[in-house]
Amino acid sequence: MYDIYVAGSGIAGATVARKMAEAGKKVLVVEKRSHIGGNCYDENDDYGVLIHKYGPHIFHTSIERVYEFLSQFTEWYMFGHEVVAKVDGKLIPVPFNLNTLHMVYDKEKADRLEKKLVDTFGEGARVPILKLREQEDDDLAEIADFVYKNVFLYYTMKQWGQKPEEINPEVTGRVPVVISRDNRYFGDKYQGMPLKGYTPMFEKMLEHENIDVVLGKDIKDVLEFKDGKIFDNGEEVLGEVVYTGPLDEFFDLKYGRLPYRTLDFEFEHLDTESFQGRSVVNYTVDEDFTRITEFKYLTNQMDAKGTTIVREYSKAYTGENGEIPYYAIINDENMNLYRKYEEEAKKFKNMHLLGRLAEYKYYNIDAITDKALTMAEELN
Ligand code: FAD
Ligand code: UDP
Repeated sequence: MYDIYVAGSGIAGATVARKMAEAGKKVLVVEKRSHIGGNCYDENDDYGVLIHKYGPHIFHTSIERVYEFLSQFTEWYMFGHEVVAKVDGKLIPVPFNLNTLHMVYDKEKADRLEKKLVDTFGEGARVPILKLREQEDDDLAEIADFVYKNVFLYYTMKQWGQKPEEINPEVTGRVPVVISRDNRYFGDKYQGMPLKGYTPMFEKMLEHENIDVVLGKDIKDVLEFKDGKIFDNGEEVLGEVVYTGPLDEFFDLKYGRLPYRTLDFEFEHLDTESFQGRSVVNYTVDEDFTRITEFKYLTNQMDAKGTTIVREYSKAYTGENGEIPYYAIINDENMNLYRKYEEEAKKFKNMHLLGRLAEYKYYNIDAITDKALTMAEELN
């Protein structure tokens, strides 16, 4: 018998497990994959290049306690992550900012548009594309139209199978038009990578005398959930259970599938020094994939021999073997379905839902770490 059972060893599960263990609780982490770390997991590929198996993960936060908490388990390679979009053969900074403006318009026009943007929104403002599109002024409408067509429309169609105005506005709001010359993708105080990678960071988090980890098992292989009660080997669990997996699958899809987007990752190792000379290029107007990541630029491996890249293809999640649900598709209909499952989960008084899957939410690493720290405080 453990005091706390945690289903899933992603950043949500690992954080809550660690905090509970530090508070003297005996913790069992049950992870159905063959490794810890969830979608943050990284490993060396056959060519010795450190890759992110589930897509590029850049840590960024302005939440001090999250930075402090994770810094106990890793040093950092801090850098300002920059992304460009390939538009008509030209690489332009994304989010679209004042530098981008000057790359797509001649000087006279760009100067005029810049003044208008600054006068309207203020220096440093971050304006969601859907908000910019509401502007009636001809100049602002022209910029909005350019950004919408060249940065958002096709990329969003590929990523979500829907137009920007059809998806939750918070999603495109993550990549606003930025009224500054800052080319960085994120605006956070801290941004970078665990110096030796995410997996060693997770190993340290879970390395504690009060934590046991079981890999390759579903929580339902370990615990029985029946009539509002949870059992371990026939004995009722009186402690807490934190579940970080998908809720529909937990309840055997009894109300139907919760819609998600999944991704196919196409990794390729090339016998050249460099493929694109930078970490991430977004393909916003052509190609079937959304972006190409070149890991050596992301993870400070400039001395790696050759280079490894990954292309990302997005599609609807079907639950087929091997598919992973990555992105919750947040809209009213899906949230109503989610709430039905949430009601089911509430019948288990000592079961708690945490994470991108269990909460059906679009969390970044830092936001879910913060949430997990709060949950650990509450459960203690
Ligand atoms: P997960 O990492 O999904 O972990 C859940 C774990 O639970 C998994 O290991 C799973 O196997 C396990 N599990 C599920 N069901 C069960 C079960 N029944 N029994 C046992 N175990 C189970 N965030 C950033 O901050 N920066 C980025 O650059 C960034 N890039 C991203 C890129 C991509 C392509 C994606 C998809 C996400 C990205 N994110 C990024 C978000 C980040 O991945 C999440 O915030 C984070 O991984 C969420 O952690 P989690 O623990 O909630 O979920
Ligand atoms: N987006 C886009 N073009 C880009 C970058 C982002 O259209 O070049 C949109 C797209 O809808 C995407 C959303 O903005 O899903 C959020 O982008 P972000 O990079 O935050 O997504 P992540 O990959 O981190 O989930």
